[in-house]
Amino acid sequence: MIEIKNKKLCSGCTACASVCPVNCITMESDDEGFLYPVVDKSRCVNCGLCEKICPILNKKEDKKIPPKAYAVINNDLKVRMNSSSGGAFSLLADYVLDNGGVVFGASFDEKFNVCHRYIERKEDLQKLRASKYVQSNLAEGGVSIFKKAKEFLDGGRMVLFTGTACQIGGLKSYLRKDYDNLITQDLICHGVPSPLVWKKYVEYRSKKAKANLQEVSFRDKRLGWLLFSMRMKFTNNKVYQKNHLIDPMFVMFLFNKCLRPCCYACSFKTITRQSDVTLADFWGVNSVCKKLNDGKGISLVLIQTKKGAEIFDKIKAKITYLEVPFEKAVAHNKMYTSSVKEKRIRTKFFKDLNSLPFEKIIRKYGWLI
Ligand SMILES: Cc1cc2nc3c(=O)[nH]c(=O)nc-3n(C[C@H](O)[C@H](O)[C@H](O)COP(=O)(O)OP(=O)(O)OC[C@H]3O[C@@H](n4cnc5c(N)ncnc54)[C@H](O)[C@@H]3O)c2cc1C
Ligand code: SF4
Ligand code: SF4
Ligand code: SF4
Repeated sequence: MIEIKNKKLCSGCTACASVCPVNCITMESDDEGFLYPVVDKSRCVNCGLCEKICPILNKKEDKKIPPKAYAVINNDLKVRMNSSSGGAFSLLADYVLDNGGVVFGASFDEKFNVCHRYIERKEDLQKLRASKYVQSNLAEGGVSIFKKAKEFLDGGRMVLFTGTACQIGGLKSYLRKDYDNLITQDLICHGVPSPLVWKKYVEYRSKKAKANLQEVSFRDKRLGWLLFSMRMKFTNNKVYQKNHLIDPMFVMFLFNKCLRPCCYACSFKTITRQSDVTLADFWGVNSVCKKLNDGKGISLVLIQTKKGAEIFDKIKAKITYLEVPFEKAVAHNKMYTSSVKEKRIRTKFFKDLNSLPFEKIIRKYGWLI
């Protein structure tokens, strides 16, 4: 039976809760706001399945075969401007939707909590588009998104499942077999901030604006792709916009003050990933192909499998791209294989988060120190 003794060894992927044959595992929030599995021991039948499938307890071997790497721009400028980097995700999603498939990814709920959802129509793609720098809940309302994906897969539908590498690892472990109709896409991942910090941030900004939050983008490109910013629009039409170097939520995220414990020792940052395709921002693009950089965003696309190569071939007519040697492609993106360093300040941060008003948290931790 799964028991979380070391929080660094749980990514909250929900595979154990999804696989339990008697449904006695629930995902519950700790006081940092991260979800962990909790077993109702009175109902556990000791089948051992949860431990057997946990992707961290049963780490996959890294094949260490470097993927093919491409700098990619989606030729649809509107889609690219609404995407975090070059708009590559939307092309994969379009391909799957055009083939009658289903696309899973991170979305906001009505209260701007981040959770995984699926879409079946192109009109809904905007919900999944663009990065939300908060851990996405894979079991919103206690319903396992992995189970939903399995239902579609077993029914023969093409499924694109997207998320962080630990979420893809969790899905694959849960499924326990390969599906020809499954395509998976992960990301180069800095780590995920606490949903509780984000909730408090939304409340704080809403209180300041004296209105409810209506729209939010973590990757607004009005100031450029490199100087991307947090932009929030409120129901009274007030707008908050600050670039990522000074927005406090970004500072707490990028300076690693509020990440999930496992992100400081990530088990999924292998050279060869479990996904078919890995996406990222093409940081450092100027040192490789400056001509491509028009300041509006370029994706780094890493092709991990034959299936990934096939789908990449299918979208080539809709992109501007250039193949780049793997080492050069990731030279400015060390998060591909390295975890961020844990700072001592993290413990104090979460202690304060639960005892001080959020305004004080921002004053204390929302600056570049
Ligand atoms: C938490 C996080 C950390 C990241 N860290 C880095 C990094 O260090 N370096 C880097 O180059 N790129 C990083 N990225 C990836 C980058 O932000 C873009 O997502 C990537 O470049 C793809 O952009 P796009 O323009 O192709 O598509 P977009 O439309 O911008 O991307 C949408 C995709 O992101 C997924 N997504 C959005 N939010 C989340 C979330 N909270 N959890 C899981 N999946 C999510 C969606 O499901 C969809 O697959 C990170 C993304 C996330 C979510
Ligand atoms: S990593 Fe996933 S499977 Fe393992 S204990 Fe955590 S939630 Fe369960
Ligand atoms: S051992 Fe089996 S029954 Fe018990 S929690 Fe794990 S999966 Fe559920
Ligand atoms: S850093 Fe690793 S463990 Fe953390 S969210 Fe990203 S992939 Fe998952």
